[in-house]
Amino acid sequence: MNPNYKADERELVKVATFFKKKAKQLIGEGKLGEENRQVEAAVDKFIEHLDEHADTRAHILKEREQLGKLVKDNAECPKCKTRDMIKLVGTDKDERGWKSNRYKCRKCNIQFTWNRPNNPWDMIQYIEEVMTLHHVKTGDTTLSSDEREQIAATIQGMEDNLAKLKPVIESHDREYEALQVREGEMAKAVHEFKNTLLIEKIKMDTWENKHK
Ligand SMILES: [Zn+2]
Repeated sequence: MNPNYKADERELVKVATFFKKKAKQLIGEGKLGEENRQVEAAVDKFIEHLDEHADTRAHILKEREQLGKLVKDNAECPKCKTRDMIKLVGTDKDERGWKSNRYKCRKCNIQFTWNRPNNPWDMIQYIEEVMTLHHVKTGDTTLSSDEREQIAATIQGMEDNLAKLKPVIESHDREYEALQVREGEMAKAVHEFKNTLLIEKIKMDTWENKHK
């Protein structure tokens, strides 16, 4: 049995497989008409389709999990400015909905939320916001040309990071959204297939009874 099935999918495959075996057996014993062979083919086709869907889903969800761990904090305690004694204790959401990690410094015995998001989706927005603020600064004539050059270099670095991060996340998000649509379609197909099996079972029982 495919380990990527959801509980209801696993249940349906169990029933369908049993049903297929039973039909085959009855046909073999001459208790069921040959026309019921189409049930076997329908079961095989459905399981094949479900297998493919379940495997793709597992792959996309695994990728999403890995992307979620992509951002590594370089967090340090705001009080003692070291990272030696800090421990991750949870996550926090700010007013924009961006998620960040929350730490405890065991040396200072304080808790703090790190000032950057802990995931690439919020990180992209964060970098874009910081870039905008920096862009404004490059036009500030009260800054020295050295300072402005420094800011321009920082912006360039952020642009490079974004150019790497954004396509990966956007391409994954498109796959993830398409998966959500297919999940809905599959739930419907599972439901319809259950009904088909039920109808076939009634037909089988009727046929069996008539030919007893
Ligand atoms: Zn500290």
